[in-house]
Amino acid sequence: MTSPPKARTVGFQAGERNVFLHLLTACNLSCRHCYINPSQHGTATLPLDTALAWLRLFARPDVQSNLVLLGGEPTMHPDLAAIIRAARAMRFAVTVDSNGYLFHDFLDRVAPDELDYLSFSLDGPDPEVNDPIRGQGVFATCTANLQRAVRLGFHTSLIYTVSALNIDHLHRMPDLLAELGVERFFIQVIGLRGKPATGGPGPGSGWQVDPDRWLEVVPQVAARAAALGIHVTYPKVYLDPGEPFECAGLVAENFFIFPNGRVYRCPLCEDYPVHSLVIEGDRLRARTGLNEDRFFTLTIPEGCVMNKLLQPDAIRYQEDGTPLHRISCCLLKQEMPPST
Ligand code: SF4
Ligand code: SF4
Repeated sequence: MTSPPKARTVGFQAGERNVFLHLLTACNLSCRHCYINPSQHGTATLPLDTALAWLRLFARPDVQSNLVLLGGEPTMHPDLAAIIRAARAMRFAVTVDSNGYLFHDFLDRVAPDELDYLSFSLDGPDPEVNDPIRGQGVFATCTANLQRAVRLGFHTSLIYTVSALNIDHLHRMPDLLAELGVERFFIQVIGLRGKPATGGPGPGSGWQVDPDRWLEVVPQVAARAAALGIHVTYPKVYLDPGEPFECAGLVAENFFIFPNGRVYRCPLCEDYPVHSLVIEGDRLRARTGLNEDRFFTLTIPEGCVMNKLLQPDAIRYQEDGTPLHRISCCLLKQEMPPST
């Protein structure tokens, strides 16, 4: 009998760079948990020349550099295919994060070998769970386009954002993904930015998932997906006793770039004008003053400082006042490779 698949924590890797480029903030959908915040990130679409100039600022062909193109909905950008080709020429590994609508005949304009991954988003295993969160008819469109992408030979992944609304349905995802031919499964936790930061999804309800429920459900679902041959990644969230805390802002190179020129190192800071870098006149410069980088060096028993600032009520304490769990950096991942 083989033992069940085990998750391993993916430590931050020195030298590896992850660049998340929001090409626009516009989207055809209006998901109830959307994390895009136009009052902070504007409504601009990056012109092709600007997008290429900004990519050159972050290109480092000598080190592993992962580029995620996102929005809003990135396939609404009329020049997405040209941006992907230019990014590949700069030696980026390129992923596109789409809501599944694939505008501008995306699958006909990009060849499968020009893209490392085409990522889709679903928040439920059927229309009854997904569509109340992401919109009427979204499940059908997204799964139809995903199947077409798989048939054409694209490497595909899927993102499921776990919240109190859909955690009870997560266990049905692995079989669906295996049936659809999805290679990688990213389980995300509902964020503390955008719409979820401004309140619950409806009267008497909240978005956030109880820690015990998360720990009970997510690793088991990940193991089931891995057993079906799917590579699974999910956030660590709660550090094990004695496990070291590290802030990605200090030990990793992640850049979250918005079309108004703001560049964050920490995604939890994106709702506030505390970005540590800015692009002005196609040049990248560090900002001075009280910005996100001041938080990165603070050491508190609870772990991540931003988490403590944004949701202090969610941290539970023991009788002696020490936190029950230290909260990991939101960028620290658990990985479960396929076991078949
Ligand atoms: S698809 Fe993404 S950008 Fe569009 S509304 Fe949904 S969460 Fe927001
Ligand atoms: S989530 Fe917390 S630990 Fe991670 S980069 Fe932001 S402040 Fe640092």
